[in-house]
Amino acid sequence: MRVLGFIFSVLLFAVVLSFKLLADAVENSRIHTRNNSEIMLLNKKIESLVSQVNKLKDLSPKKFPKVKELSYLSKKRILVTGGAGFVASHLVDRLMSQGHEVTVVDNFFTGSKKNIEHWIGHKNFELIRHDIINPLYVEVDQIYHLASPASPPHYMFNPVKTIKTNTIGTINMLGLARRVGARVLIASTSEVYGNPLVHPQNEDYWGHVNPIGPRSCYDEGKRVAESLSYAYAKQENVEVRVARIFNTYGPRMHLNDGRVVSNFIQQALQNHTITIYGSGKQTRSFQYVSDLVDGLILLMNSNYSLPINLGNPEEYTIEQFASVIKDIVGGVSPIVKQTGVQDDPQRRKPDIKRAKLYLGWSPKVPLNVGLKETIKYFENELIKENAKEISLKDD
Ligand code: NAD
Ligand code: UDP
Ligand code: UDP
Repeated sequence: MRVLGFIFSVLLFAVVLSFKLLADAVENSRIHTRNNSEIMLLNKKIESLVSQVNKLKDLSPKKFPKVKELSYLSKKRILVTGGAGFVASHLVDRLMSQGHEVTVVDNFFTGSKKNIEHWIGHKNFELIRHDIINPLYVEVDQIYHLASPASPPHYMFNPVKTIKTNTIGTINMLGLARRVGARVLIASTSEVYGNPLVHPQNEDYWGHVNPIGPRSCYDEGKRVAESLSYAYAKQENVEVRVARIFNTYGPRMHLNDGRVVSNFIQQALQNHTITIYGSGKQTRSFQYVSDLVDGLILLMNSNYSLPINLGNPEEYTIEQFASVIKDIVGGVSPIVKQTGVQDDPQRRKPDIKRAKLYLGWSPKVPLNVGLKETIKYFENELIKENAKEISLKDD
């Protein structure tokens, strides 16, 4: 290993030196104008050096975030479906750092490799590109089933596929759990309550969902997923956990997912109009992603098998939320009301008594703290996007 490291350092030094000499040559060529063939030659040399550096990078040992060493008995084999997505990639980080073996399955519909690239190559990590509406055969102890588009524009983009993912996909995960005796946690949603007539929403409320509206592919898909979970639990003794997740935000949210958090932050950062759909009197309650990850892991490892709400009960009207974002970001965005959207739930706030009682869980991250982290992330993403656009124009 040491010899390899030494050889690598020498090679790297040689390449860096060549770069330096080349850079000087290019600089000289700028000062003493050279002819085209000389410049082309220099460019070719640069290209070849870039490719050598890239090859060396591949050879160099990759640095991974720290993980715990677990004994054979405490180490679990964990499957995370939708693991390249926003929420699940944070869950993967936590499970990996705890020292478990994690397999991510994702079809990259809304997820991205960059959310998990820091684990690629780690001995405890595996990535499978796979659509869960097709059967999957792996051997695991636990399954966190999060694969499904989650933002309204994403799940409405291909409603039939959303239904298939949440029904056929869930059957496959439950079938897998049954075969290998794994425990499975299903990521359900506050959308199972629809446009609720009970406020705040507790887990005993059956909901108020339009079965044929634009949100039904997701709402009914998740309701079937819950129904399937309890059918497999009763009939096949599969151990199921059901998390009803309320609006969640944080870094790695999709830049263009059309959700209120990403829209408002982007709009405020770019001094564009902040768009409120409808009256702005509708409410939501926002939880930071690390709180959700805490709750999911506690639920998976608890003995509680009925559905549990995971959300932050601090409720805001969308109008208030627009001002909160604008105040933190600053800037001069006007806040403008637009036409409302069909079947938009008017009030949403989780009752989290059950999570407190059975999991000892309640959210910890205040909105302004979580939003600052998220805004930082979006700022960087926008800088990267703008850089890409500039380089495309230059090409
Ligand atoms: P996301 O879109 O960022 O992640 C979903 C992931 O699932 C993506 O990586 C996507 O590529 C993958 N996926 C989708 N269909 C798939 C398929 N057929 N096969 C394999 N992979 C597939 O969404 P998110 O916000 O991280 O949500 C994750 C889960 O949590 C979803 O099940 C969602 O319903 C649930 N949830 C999220 C929220 C929230 O506010 N973020 C609220 C309630 C419930
Ligand atoms: N399944 C899977 N992986 C497994 C076991 C099952 O993807 O390891 C799928 C299987 O293809 C089936 C579904 O899960 O379509 C339900 O399986 P189950 O055993 O409940 O029912 P059956 O195989 O009898 O349809
Ligand atoms: N919303 C809005 N402006 C936007 C995006 C969303 O006013 O640019 C509203 C939307 O109509 C809903 C709330 O914000 O009332 C939350 O929407 P989101 O899509 O984030 O999630 P939902 O909770 O509806 O699934």
